Amino acid sequence: MDRVDVIIVGAGMAGLTAAVRLEDRGVSTIVLDKGRVPGGRMATRRIGEASFDHGAQHFSARSAEFREQTAEWIEQGLVRAWFSSKSRTVVGGPIEPRHAGRAGMRRIPEHLATGLRVETSVTVERIENVVGGVTALSSDGRVWHATGMVLTPPAPQTLQLLGHSGVQMNDAIEKALATIDYDACLAVMALLSGDAGLPDGHIAPSAGSIAWMADNQHKGVSSVPAVTIHSAPGFAQEHLDADPAVWVAKLAAAARQHLDGSIVEAIGHRWRYSQPRATLDTGAVAVGQHYPLILAGELFAGARVEGAFRSGLAAAEVMEDLL
Ligand SMILES: Cc1cc2nc3c(=O)[nH]c(=O)nc-3n(C[C@H](O)[C@H](O)[C@H](O)COP(=O)(O)OP(=O)(O)OC[C@H]3O[C@@H](n4cnc5c(N)ncnc54)[C@H](O)[C@@H]3O)c2cc1C
Repeated sequence: MDRVDVIIVGAGMAGLTAAVRLEDRGVSTIVLDKGRVPGGRMATRRIGEASFDHGAQHFSARSAEFREQTAEWIEQGLVRAWFSSKSRTVVGGPIEPRHAGRAGMRRIPEHLATGLRVETSVTVERIENVVGGVTALSSDGRVWHATGMVLTPPAPQTLQLLGHSGVQMNDAIEKALATIDYDACLAVMALLSGDAGLPDGHIAPSAGSIAWMADNQHKGVSSVPAVTIHSAPGFAQEHLDADPAVWVAKLAAAARQHLDGSIVEAIGHRWRYSQPRATLDTGAVAVGQHYPLILAGELFAGARVEGAFRSGLAAAEVMEDLL
């Protein structure tokens, strides 16, 4: 059995940020993720010569700590400003730069993961209170032991894990988590025969089945014409459990009117928990009764890359106080 100070479930922006901060302070961590690679919803995929960001598309930096982190990534050549626009959620907000990973959004969590202990393809199925700490048990029978734990999956997955594990939580927190709904998003990665021709590399139609389209070649992520299409939440809700061939064809057909090049191949990806419709904005929350157990993730600091980062920092701080 392996032992560290803190087990972190989820190698997305929140979990990796928490791990980096804790390790900086001399707290040993292991990050476990069910995905094949780290990154969570900051995802980039190659199809032949083409590369696609098919989860988070870009990010803004509004807080001082995330501005500082973003400046460091720019300095390191990891991130660049892609375009500038007003926020669609902050009314009357300023025009601000939208940043993206130079070689894809996933490169950012991959960079954070360098030097950390991260184990992928590990689904944590149960956690157990043991003398002096907590164990994580994976679906393939592996076990990790630690003094404390941070959970960063989307709320429904965290609640499922806690439910399987018989963890009792404060009623108010459990109720708050259980009432948060998530929008789904259906993503299509489309290879084109020629340039996409999207003005400024992207469009966000205000009606219809498509919410967003981005030209990965304009963004600098793909060397060949390659467009990411994100469905509107209503379309995703309606088609979430349908055969992907159905919704890929519908979204590709709807995209054609916006594109110069023709779609020659299209592949779908389903994001069941794309973004929460509301957030709790507490940073991170300690729920453990017998050992330090902290819930974190974008849900606790704003449904964006920046929120996940800030929640990761908050989780590390709360954990340090409790260890
Ligand atoms: C389609 C889409 C578009 C988006 N666009 C933007 C955007 O343009 N700008 C922006 O700022 N944000 C955007 N977001 C939101 C942004 O991606 C998220 O807010 C952020 O990445 C969340 O990070 P996180 O670490 O909180 O969660 P995640 O990245 O989801 O990480 C949680 C991790 O937990 C793992 N996990 C879950 N359950 C288990 C388990 N039982 N065992 C082991 N591992 C487990 C998952 O595999 C996952 O890797 C978008 C998201 C999506 C899906």
